[in-house]
Amino acid sequence: MKRHAFSAAAFSGALLGAAMFSSPVMAQEEFITIGTGGQTGVYYVVGQSVCRLVNRLEDANIKCNAPSTGGSVANINGIKSGELDMGVVQSDVQYQAYNGTGNFEDEPYEELRAVFRVHGEPLTLLARADAGIETLDDLEGKRVNIGNPGSGQRNTMEVVMEAKGWTEDTFSLASQLDAAEQAAALADNNVDAMVYVVGHPNGSIQEATTTVDARLIPLNGEAIDGIVEEHPYYSKSVIPGGLYKGNPDDVDTFGVAATFVSDADTSEEVVYQTVKAIFDNFDRFKRLHPAFENLDPQEMVTSGLSAPLHEGAARYYREQGWIE
Ligand code: GLU
Repeated sequence: MKRHAFSAAAFSGALLGAAMFSSPVMAQEEFITIGTGGQTGVYYVVGQSVCRLVNRLEDANIKCNAPSTGGSVANINGIKSGELDMGVVQSDVQYQAYNGTGNFEDEPYEELRAVFRVHGEPLTLLARADAGIETLDDLEGKRVNIGNPGSGQRNTMEVVMEAKGWTEDTFSLASQLDAAEQAAALADNNVDAMVYVVGHPNGSIQEATTTVDARLIPLNGEAIDGIVEEHPYYSKSVIPGGLYKGNPDDVDTFGVAATFVSDADTSEEVVYQTVKAIFDNFDRFKRLHPAFENLDPQEMVTSGLSAPLHEGAARYYREQGWIE
């Protein structure tokens, strides 16, 4: 594939060499890489699930892999540099990157392309039960993991901090641990609270709530209302009660959606085959994670997207009659 010309050519050269001695020349394989997130999040499962379906395609000859990454912002940067072909990113990050706002101020990424929307992702604040945190305001003076640079939660937490007039000095510690390290840090009492923009249920919150007594904290009040009113890509949401030990009640918060994105330069055929692999096998895809349970194909391709649809995706959706 064009954006991986060097490594793909070297690899297919080796394949060709092997083929000369063993079997008839095979059609050239395309290698694609999908950016995900931490291994205990949902993006990693999304990426692995998509690759599993793509790698089963008999005629397409695509080899897909989906490594763990730093999250949404790291995925945008990886797609932009050509290191990744596709990736999962939060809808707020997609909007900001495409339009050049927020952390992408004055650098609109015009070649960014939307592929489809996936599950909802509430901003999830989890605190140790012994930390004396019952509301967002109680985070002042506490040890909070505000997320690794490159993650979507860090990006969204910065929006919350700005709305509250907070800086990192508001907390006694503002740590920047990766998503997959947060649960252990909470359990080991190295932090009082962690934030994660993530689908539910997920492995990280499960890990935290089974190793330490911890509570999901509601996010509401004036600052949160303002954020939701001001930005079209944020909406109020609820983390259902009963998903995690010690958290029987629904918790109000706000959130975004996870979206699948690519670059206008990524091959139309590869993106077409990728969405075809998913939507032709949609029941199987949905069973791969409980957060996918309520997904509806037509809604996934028509709402929650800011960048234009990738041409390869649009071709498949037109064939299905989902878009004009
Ligand atoms: N929303 C997170 C991020 O953008 C990742 C969540 C996940 O891995 O499921 O970094």
